Amino acid sequence: MQTAPNLMPIPGHVDPVPVPRATPARADGKVDLVGLTRDQIRAELEAAGMEPKQAKLRSKQLWHWIYNRGATSFETMTDIAKAQHPWLDQRFTVDRPAVVEAQVSSDGTRKWLLRSTDGHDFEMVFIPDADRGTLCVSSQVGCTLNCRFCHTGTMRLVRNLTPGEIVGQVMLARDSLGEWPSQPEGRMLTNIVMMGMGEPLYNFDAVRDALKIVMDGDGLALSKRRITLSTSGVVPMMARAGEEIGVNLAVSLHAVTKEVRDEIVPLNKKYGIEELLAACAAYPGANNARRITFEYVMLKDKNDSDADAHELVRLIRKYKLPAKVNLIPFNPWEGAAYECSTPERIRSFSNIVFEAGISAPVRTPRGRDIDAACGQLKTSAEKRSRAELDRLAEEKQAALG
Ligand code: SAH
Ligand code: SF4
Repeated sequence: MQTAPNLMPIPGHVDPVPVPRATPARADGKVDLVGLTRDQIRAELEAAGMEPKQAKLRSKQLWHWIYNRGATSFETMTDIAKAQHPWLDQRFTVDRPAVVEAQVSSDGTRKWLLRSTDGHDFEMVFIPDADRGTLCVSSQVGCTLNCRFCHTGTMRLVRNLTPGEIVGQVMLARDSLGEWPSQPEGRMLTNIVMMGMGEPLYNFDAVRDALKIVMDGDGLALSKRRITLSTSGVVPMMARAGEEIGVNLAVSLHAVTKEVRDEIVPLNKKYGIEELLAACAAYPGANNARRITFEYVMLKDKNDSDADAHELVRLIRKYKLPAKVNLIPFNPWEGAAYECSTPERIRSFSNIVFEAGISAPVRTPRGRDIDAACGQLKTSAEKRSRAELDRLAEEKQAALG
């Protein structure tokens, strides 16, 4: 296999396709400041020749304008000398991911198809509720983990998103909701879940750096209590997530036996259920006021029996976990190997867990009509290229005669 620098093989695929890991430099040669910390902004200014003392001051001002005020150009930055705007403009930019498509569901859920500067597509979803608004953010283009029930896991192309592309999603949502400058009251975007495309703990550094900016009081200023990171169970990274990011943890458990979890979440072969639950018990900051969410997708005749529900309760008790269980009705997609459990089955499962004193709400699927629901995220890029191939084949056919 090709081993050029910056290329990342995709585990789990028979025929791995190497894809670029780092974002190539922008075609215009400018450095995008979105996603950079104060120190990184300062270093970029100095590298471009700005005198250190001035760079220190400017980096603070730039930070405030970018993350607190949502500025997208230098000319609006009124406390930075006008004469300096062109200098900044020639070297730097304040960008968002490009919007390829924006869709609104009949239930108000919004989905955006976004494109990176090097042409990779990823998605972001906003779910408005009466008392909150949740942005579902992607951490990777595609996902290498291949969970059998998840559409994202079938994408062949995978690339880590950069901190800029992750923070950029939140900034874009703020743009479209008109929520600048950052303010504590009356926001529509109140919560963030790292539950879009990708496995956030396989892109740890970028996710951490991005969320630090999101949580900074003079940045996007969202409290860590309103941010949830969902992992399929990357055990070795969980303690670091608790210590270095400190957000709420959600774990995609989905099964209570080795046999079933090995099948539907293949990562289980590497980090088993007991190991995963022990890591949850040790998760820094988890307590009764901040419970760990266990996500459990309801798959007909696969993981949805009363015995499974009892076993789930036993495991949660065994590890003394401050837990709540989110039951997610399986969202079907074309070609999926599973069906959703019946409503009666889901109710029975939920009751057993609930009667054991553990909250077990059934999550209402949102945005199904625009393929925005959990596990349905898979960019249309692949579908489109298939359609394009078909069109090309037709044209060729027509040309031939
Ligand atoms: N990779 C991370 C976060 C993204 S997935 C993780 O797996 O936790 C967000 C949630 O949606 C996970 O719990 C995932 O298992 C669930 N999910 C995936 N496909 C689904 C589907 N088709 N129907 C319902 N939930 C699904
Ligand atoms: Fe990846 Fe999560 Fe989908 Fe599994 S459920 S394939 S970890 S995005």
